[in-house]
Amino acid sequence: AELPADTDLTNEIRQVKNTVFSYVNPTKTSNPKLIHASEEVAEMVGISKDEIQTEEFLNVFSGNDIFPETRPFAMCYAGHQFGNWAGQLGDGRAINLMEVEHNNQFFMLQLKGAGKTPYSRTADGLAVLRSSIREYLCAEAMHYLGVPTTRSVSLALSGDQVLRDVLYNGNPAYEKGAIVCRVAPSFIRFGSFEMLTARNELKNLKNLVEFTIKHYYPEIKGEPKEQYIQFFQTVADKTREMILHWQRVGFVHGVMNTDNMSIHGITIDYGPYGWLENYDPDWTPNTTDSQNRRYRFGNQPQVAQWNLFQLANALYPLVNEAAPLEKILDSFINDFERDYKVIFLSKLGLFTSSEADDKIITGLEEILQLSETDMTIFFRNLSQITKEDSVESAFEKIEYSFYKFDEIKENILTAWQKWFAVYLKRLQSENLSDEERAQKMNQINPKYVLRNYMAQLAIDAADKEDYSLIDELFQLLKNPYDEQPEAEKWFAKRPDWARTKVGCSM
Ligand code: AMP
Ligand code: MG
Ligand code: MG
Repeated sequence: AELPADTDLTNEIRQVKNTVFSYVNPTKTSNPKLIHASEEVAEMVGISKDEIQTEEFLNVFSGNDIFPETRPFAMCYAGHQFGNWAGQLGDGRAINLMEVEHNNQFFMLQLKGAGKTPYSRTADGLAVLRSSIREYLCAEAMHYLGVPTTRSVSLALSGDQVLRDVLYNGNPAYEKGAIVCRVAPSFIRFGSFEMLTARNELKNLKNLVEFTIKHYYPEIKGEPKEQYIQFFQTVADKTREMILHWQRVGFVHGVMNTDNMSIHGITIDYGPYGWLENYDPDWTPNTTDSQNRRYRFGNQPQVAQWNLFQLANALYPLVNEAAPLEKILDSFINDFERDYKVIFLSKLGLFTSSEADDKIITGLEEILQLSETDMTIFFRNLSQITKEDSVESAFEKIEYSFYKFDEIKENILTAWQKWFAVYLKRLQSENLSDEERAQKMNQINPKYVLRNYMAQLAIDAADKEDYSLIDELFQLLKNPYDEQPEAEKWFAKRPDWARTKVGCSM
């Protein structure tokens, strides 16, 4: 887009009006070091394996050098945070380096933690090693799980110290700074549109919507108003798909603010995310949300709808008619529930449908909680059950997934027996053989996910300059649905020491 002649190009923190981005260069780092890079993602954007090892790669991806003929920029957006309007936020610690075209696809490359931008407000624009490891690993893990997400291409130490906390004794607790380069079609968020509408910059709103449709949804055609409605429908559909995947694999985003919602329906901004271990729809990894639990696992579909409502409000001045937007919003939860039921049944190996299915699902959700059942292990082990199993032998195959069993053994055991009796009977009406069913289930129920304690172990080792666990987990999580006998130790319940740990703050 053309910038107005009087645009302020200085790199200082401010309210930035009448634009959707500001040019800004990354801050130079003192001693960058590449910790890890994804060869696949590099190749996807046209960087070879050999190029990853070069000085040039390190310098560009740590923000020390600007790649020739590119002009980095930070984006301006607003958002609703925890249900409240937060006004202008913007990329406070993210800088888009460049857009790459490779194999007829476009990719935006963005550094996170590369220093202050006009949108840094009171913060430093930096990222610490622990949160960078968590984002780097999780984005790739999600991709290989089949969940729409940003990708990670590199993880580098900056060589600089970052202050996040002050210890009880008053001493500053410095941490290692790090920079992740992530990749997405674009980093446009719901909040990008909300900001323009809130400021009544309707010409810019129209420009941004039309730019977005033209570049990212070229299949949308027709009258302008029809296009805007179709755009909203597409974002709603993609968002629903993304949440369906989150619920399937037990992922909890933790900060579903509208500034963290991508208009591509991809998972973006990995902060205090987490994975359900003991199945608990009320669980959230975000300690700052432990009162309201707005972003708890079971509330993610509703929050997605609420966020889409904010996007609808932002688009309304262009559409000028509420009904078509409302219609899309109104069907969101019904469509979600319809699709989720199919997914949940497929997690159970039920690929046909039957009257009894609703009861099987709700009954299971209750007992999973009674015995504090590890979601990943339960569903994975369920594929070992055969049509010949008895209630007892079936139960034995999933028993390992319980965190709690001893205390109230009797009633829990009875509940499970009742459920298995119904489930085993229901299995008889499935057409697939046990082997075929198991194979299909194992493509839906991952064996390996990035449990919080696993990321934490990688972080602790990395803090001591041992990066081997980062690579081990990276490789493991590339094939989350495969049996990896040599990695069986990662198919295990959360250890006791990790029980009270929650996703770390940023
Ligand atoms: P988040 O909750 O991580 O999505 O961040 C919300 C807003 O705070 C975004 O505008 C971020 O860019 C900004 N922000 C978060 N951490 C920092 C930081 N260390 N420095 C500058 N801005 C930040
Ligand atoms: Mg964010
Ligand atoms: Mg963040």
